[in-house]
Amino acid sequence: MARLPEQIDQLVAYKGAAIAVWLAMFLALERLWPAASRPSAPLSDPSGRALVRFAAKHDLKRIAKNGALWAFNALLGPAIVLPVTLLAVEWGPAWRPPGWSGWPALLLDLALLDLWIYWWHRANHESSWLWRFHRIHHLDNFLDASSAGRFHAGEVALSAMVRGAIILALDIPLGHVLAFEALVLAAAIFQHSNLALPVGVERALSRLVVTPSIHWLHHHAVRADTDSNYSTTLSLWDRVFGTQSPNVRSPAMAIGLAGEPDTGLRELLAAPLRRARPVG
Ligand SMILES: [Zn+2]
Repeated sequence: MARLPEQIDQLVAYKGAAIAVWLAMFLALERLWPAASRPSAPLSDPSGRALVRFAAKHDLKRIAKNGALWAFNALLGPAIVLPVTLLAVEWGPAWRPPGWSGWPALLLDLALLDLWIYWWHRANHESSWLWRFHRIHHLDNFLDASSAGRFHAGEVALSAMVRGAIILALDIPLGHVLAFEALVLAAAIFQHSNLALPVGVERALSRLVVTPSIHWLHHHAVRADTDSNYSTTLSLWDRVFGTQSPNVRSPAMAIGLAGEPDTGLRELLAAPLRRARPVG
């Protein structure tokens, strides 16, 4: 059964507030302890305008573009993602036994949804039509916490619909879906961040979850690496399904798609209407 609307509003608000705090924390941490240098940060600008110099130095143009895509996707939440999710929860066959609840049920659902998102992400690379949308995420030529929300709205809507079918079939409760959404956003902010972690900490964490070193390889501008490391939260899926990159991240590695420069916001939004190059 779906919760009452006011309870849903409250849960969504809590989730949004928690993610906002998490995002602010990583935006600050990655500035304090960066793992890689930001590209093209000129110390002086021919125009001489202080604001232009400041924006260039701090990579604000790229971050504003990612922020705009993120804000647009946030609007899709109440417009598409939440309604589709609520329908899936309400129309579910309610086949779960009453005793199937509590932490074990939550953890199992989180793992099942994480497995689903592994295959969804992989499908976005292997289907040339889905790649048209997903390549917008990969055109980013640097990674930081702002990259975590850089997705084409079409990908977000498609993902919500496919996920709705999974929720319906598995009869997943709404609270578990919202917990998964928060987990995925938190994981995405962490793994895209430009935060330098101590080597030992990152190595230990990477055995369980996807760390920046793992995910940055997924954004390496070399197709073999781009088409690997698909996991979102648990790192084991790439090991289980044989899609873990054998390479090691280096701070100077090129990020993005080889031969495909990033474009302006309008071009990014229109890009899926054009034919993308074939998938690898
Ligand atoms: Zn990808």
